[in-house]
Amino acid sequence: GEYSHRVTVKGGDELSQLADEFNELTGRLQTTEEVRRRFVSDASHELKTPLASIRLLTDSILQADHMDSETAREFLVDIGDEAERLTRITEKLLTLTRLDTAHPTQTEPVDVKEVVERVEHMLTPLAGAAEVELRLRLQPGCVVKATKDDLYQVAFNLMENAVKYNLPGGKVLVTLSRWGDQVVLTVEDTGVGIPQEDLPKVFDRFYRVDKARSRAAGGTGLGLSIVRDMVRQHGGTVSVQPREPEGTCFTVRFPIWTERGEETP
Ligand code: ADP
Repeated sequence: GEYSHRVTVKGGDELSQLADEFNELTGRLQTTEEVRRRFVSDASHELKTPLASIRLLTDSILQADHMDSETAREFLVDIGDEAERLTRITEKLLTLTRLDTAHPTQTEPVDVKEVVERVEHMLTPLAGAAEVELRLRLQPGCVVKATKDDLYQVAFNLMENAVKYNLPGGKVLVTLSRWGDQVVLTVEDTGVGIPQEDLPKVFDRFYRVDKARSRAAGGTGLGLSIVRDMVRQHGGTVSVQPREPEGTCFTVRFPIWTERGEETP
């Protein structure tokens, strides 16, 4: 490939150390390049699918000898749905690109409790329709330095998934607490769960355990990668654990913001 410039140096401690470092760096560049190429290829594939559907539906209308207006209407609704799907994918791709290139801007001290309560408010209709109970147990005073919109997006993606991948009569519990110098947010559900072997992959771009279910719920497989990138950008971590006896629990940890911390250089 383009990065096949390995250097071999015999003897000379410093020089061979330098060669090792060079080779290690080259390896890392290669990995980054591979990840990038894979991403572009995956993204193109994801965009091609709805585009192919639109093409097919359009042809069906155009080539039909005669089509009653009811059928034509159904096809047009499908075309509209596919167009909406394309919009969702491109919006998320743009978000990921922004997270890749820019550092968080406009950070401010944000009370996570207020953000979670806002997300709950927005998800109430969805939870109602899915017959899923949303419960919050939020400690006040959990403040982090963050871009407010990003924090909202993190909480929204996790809580929306907890509702989407749930079952009628199921529950979602969101807790917020302070542990030493960390703010800990957990989103726990009694839903369909994630098989053990899929757990490490759910944060990957475009990864979906159940493609049909994700698609039916309007998913893109990008929500959790956005969560991971946003959390990392804010100096936090996110992890996933299976919940006993069923369901899933996501845990997000952020460094806490304190006024005292702000004063010390
Ligand atoms: P999607 O747009 O498909 O929801 P995400 O990146 O948000 O994409 O999630 C990736 C996949 O992880 C989902 O398709 C789903 O299979 C699985 N998943 C995410 N959250 C949950 C959850 N709370 N319970 C069960 N499965 C989940």
